[in-house]
Amino acid sequence: MYNHPTMSNIVQFPDRTAKARNQGDTLCRRGFHKWVIDKQPVFDTKAGQLVTTQRCSRCGKTETRST
Ligand SMILES: [Zn+2]
Repeated sequence: MYNHPTMSNIVQFPDRTAKARNQGDTLCRRGFHKWVIDKQPVFDTKAGQLVTTQRCSRCGKTETRST
């Protein structure tokens, strides 16, 4: 009677944090990464232009982007 499964699910905090984490992963899988600048822009002699290395703070993926 007092152990209501629906009520206990609503107040569980770990469930909420897991959901937030999954939401971030979903964004990464869709290509919406949280990019932060990993290195200062360097001149790529092959490309003939400045390239910036950036890293996703959620999944750790790195990517170089020409400026
Ligand atoms: Zn990511």
